[in-house]
This record gives sequence, C-alpha cells and structure tokens, in this order.
Amino acid sequence: MAQIVLVRGDITAQEVDAIVNAANSSLMGGGGVDGAIHRRGGPAILEECKRIRAAQYPDGLPTGKAVATTAGNLPAKWVIHTVGPVYARESDPASLLASCHTEALRVADELGAKTVAFPAISTGVYGYPTGEAAPVAMEAVLTADSAVEEVRFVLFDADAYEAFERVLRSEED
Ligand code: ADP
Repeated sequence: MAQIVLVRGDITAQEVDAIVNAANSSLMGGGGVDGAIHRRGGPAILEECKRIRAAQYPDGLPTGKAVATTAGNLPAKWVIHTVGPVYARESDPASLLASCHTEALRVADELGAKTVAFPAISTGVYGYPTGEAAPVAMEAVLTADSAVEEVRFVLFDADAYEAFERVLRSEED
C-alpha cells in the first residue's frame, strides 16, 4: 500500500516521477490545474496529447480513464492525464472519481513510476464538493492494487487541504 502524503502547494513544482492532471476529455488544455501544467510544462505535452487523440481517442478521453505523456519542462518525468466527473452531470460521480485514481495508478505502474502526485480532481470547475471528493480519492488510492510507493495529494487551497487532512486523520484512528 502506498504511503500517503499531503502537501499544500502547486503540483507543477513537485519532484515526483509522475503528476496527475485533472484534464478535460479533449486533452487540449484548459483552465485550473490543467492550464498550469501545460503552461509550465511547455508545448511538448500538448503535442503528445494531440498524437494520443489522433491514434487512440478521436472522440476524447472518457471520464474516469487515464493516459500518460511526457512532463516536458516540469520536474516530474510524466504527466498522467485523467478526466474527472462533472459533479452535477453524473448520477454516480463517486465511482468515476475513484476510477480516475485507480486508472492513474495503473498507468503509473505501466510507466514504472513510484512517486505520484494528485491534485484534488474535479473539485474546481467540475464542481465536486471537496468534503465529498476527499474520502473518495483517499479510499481509492488506499485500496488500489499498485506498486506506487508514495501518493502525494497536492492541495492548492486551504479548504481542500483541510478536507484531505480530516480524512487522513480518520484513517489513522
Ligand atoms: P476540475 O476541472 O477537475 O474541477 P480544476 O483544475 O478546475 O479541475 O480544479 C481541480 C483542483 O485543482 C481545484 O481544487 C483547484 O484549486 C486545484 N488547482 C488549481 N491549480 C492547481 C495547481 N497548480 N496545483 C495543484 N492544484 C491546483
């Protein structure tokens, strides 16, 4: 089972093998964490996303699935792009959010990544309440069958950090 670490900060600065992007299904970049990753990582990431779209996912990456690209100029080696659920649009957002985490860890295993950083997927523009997303994300990584040694949740704002910390503390009790 992976060790869980919580960090308040910017995922693009993390020195880990892979960082996870809360992408949208187009894989063509966007706002929030997606925008920050493409901005800091440079054009090599988008070029690889375009190749993946053309070769594997002409209609876009489905919600809950994950694919890897280079991390370009970022300190990480890879970016694992996953598409979180739009909270208001899905009847079962929790299973899709859990799938984002297990699929990202499966891709990390294929790459041989041992340290992986996740943002709080879906809790920005996609509207997933942080207090609901945190236990789903945590449970998914704690129960995943993966060789990843460290999962680092990188929380951008105080609210998200506190939600994940509450869940981690309750796991430890
Ligand atoms: P989604 O569309 O999946 O909701 P967002 O990027 O809008 O994705 O938000 C997901 C989470 O990522 C939010 O909690 C947001 O505050 C956070 N976030 C935004 N920028 C960064 C960053 N540079 N590093 C880590 N987390 C970030």
